[in-house]
Amino acid sequence: MSEKYLSVSDGENCPVCNNPTMKVTAREIDVPHFGQTLLYSSLCRNCGFRQSWSYPLEESSPHRYTLYVSDPSDLTSRVIKSNTASIKIPELGFSMESKMSSDPFITNVEGVLQRVKAATQTLNSWADSKEEKEKIEKVFQKIEKAIAGELPFHLIIEDPLGISTIEATNPKKLKVEELRSSEDAQ
Ligand SMILES: [Zn+2]
Repeated sequence: MSEKYLSVSDGENCPVCNNPTMKVTAREIDVPHFGQTLLYSSLCRNCGFRQSWSYPLEESSPHRYTLYVSDPSDLTSRVIKSNTASIKIPELGFSMESKMSSDPFITNVEGVLQRVKAATQTLNSWADSKEEKEKIEKVFQKIEKAIAGELPFHLIIEDPLGISTIEATNPKKLKVEELRSSEDAQ
C-alpha cells in the first residue's frame, strides 16, 4: 500500500468542544483491490475528538461547487481544495487558477477569505502607484466585510478531477454541478 501525503490544516474549530484545536490531514492512499482513495482524518488536541472519512478517487469526475455565502454561519462551511482546483469569488474580483495554486488545503470559508486577504496584502506591497494602492484598498475593505459576514458572495470551486468539495453548513445554499469534461472547468 503506497501513500501520498497531501495536506494538513491546523486550528480548525472542533465540532464537539468548539475550540480551534482541530488538526486535519489528507492522504492519498492506494488500497489493494479498491484503487486510489483519499483519506481525511481529523483530531482535536483539546478533547480528543477524532473523525475520518474517505473518498474513492477513481469514481471522481469534473465538478463545480458554488456556495452562496450570505450569513455568518456560512463562513464555517468546510472547504476541501485539491491542487487541481481553481477558486473564484466574483463579488471580490478574485480568481485563483489551478496552475497558480498547486497548494491543496482544507479549511473553512473564512479561512479561504484569510488567504485572499493575504494575497491582496502581497499585491498592495507590490503596487507602485497611488491609484493602484487605492484600488487594492477598496478590495481589501470588501474582503473585511465578507469576513465579518456583511457582504454576501459566491464561492466557486472547479475541479477537473472532482476531488475538492464544500461541506456546507446550510446545504441548500450549495449548488453542485457535474461538468461534462475538464474542458468545461474554466
Ligand atoms: Zn474538541
